[in-house]
Amino acid sequence: MEQQLVCDTVKDLLPMYIDHMTSEASNVSIEEHISGCRDCRTVLEQMREPVAVESAPELKEFKKFLKKSKMSLFYWIMGAAAVIAVVTCFIVNLAIEGRLSWFYIVAAGIGTGYLPAYIAIRCEEHRIVKMLAALNVCVFFLLGVIQIVVYYQMGIGGKWFWRTGVPIAVLWSVIVWLSVLVRVKFRTMVLTAVTVLICLAVPGNFLTNMICGYYRGWEDYAADFVSNGLGNTAAAVLLIIMDIMIYIGRKGRGGHGK
Ligand SMILES: [Zn+2]
Repeated sequence: MEQQLVCDTVKDLLPMYIDHMTSEASNVSIEEHISGCRDCRTVLEQMREPVAVESAPELKEFKKFLKKSKMSLFYWIMGAAAVIAVVTCFIVNLAIEGRLSWFYIVAAGIGTGYLPAYIAIRCEEHRIVKMLAALNVCVFFLLGVIQIVVYYQMGIGGKWFWRTGVPIAVLWSVIVWLSVLVRVKFRTMVLTAVTVLICLAVPGNFLTNMICGYYRGWEDYAADFVSNGLGNTAAAVLLIIMDIMIYIGRKGRGGHGK
């Protein structure tokens, strides 16, 4: 009976003992008791075992919450920055011109920057493809806004939207999408997709100059090749060689190309 009372007292003191909050005299008594009492010794050992902090569900939840709140703080800051930029441009544009003109371009530009970023953060799967699709739509929208504001409202420049703007945007959209398609459809390395992109950039560059009216044919391209096409072509050839070498290396090691 008395032994049980001593054990209960020691067990009550153990948390404080572990935290070095007991007196020297108590320490001596506790240690003396523990050396002779298996029951209390087991309790002390259990108390001293490190708690598996990481697996504690409450803590995990708390960390998740913290991460979430940090992310939402990030959203708020980004959103506030955009609102400040838009509002400032709104006021300045109105003050200078007495109407809204280039403000529309700023607003559309900020919107087209944020929409793909928002999609990339929010979407769980096919993130890159969805983001690229949004970016693609945004580019056409932004081009249209710029054309309307600059030409029809401010009277600067000519009509270029349908003649050059859209064809060039379509051309480069196709080039980028083909590269992404290669990566997604054939599950190639990122390097291979980049290779496709750079290879397609060679004719893309030529066609862009054709659309703009700088070239009238291949002979103009040939004349301009050293300054305008050589870098692209060299990069394309280099990337093709790298791809081939990597694929051969993988086959040699018996791995299946992925
Ligand atoms: Zn005991």
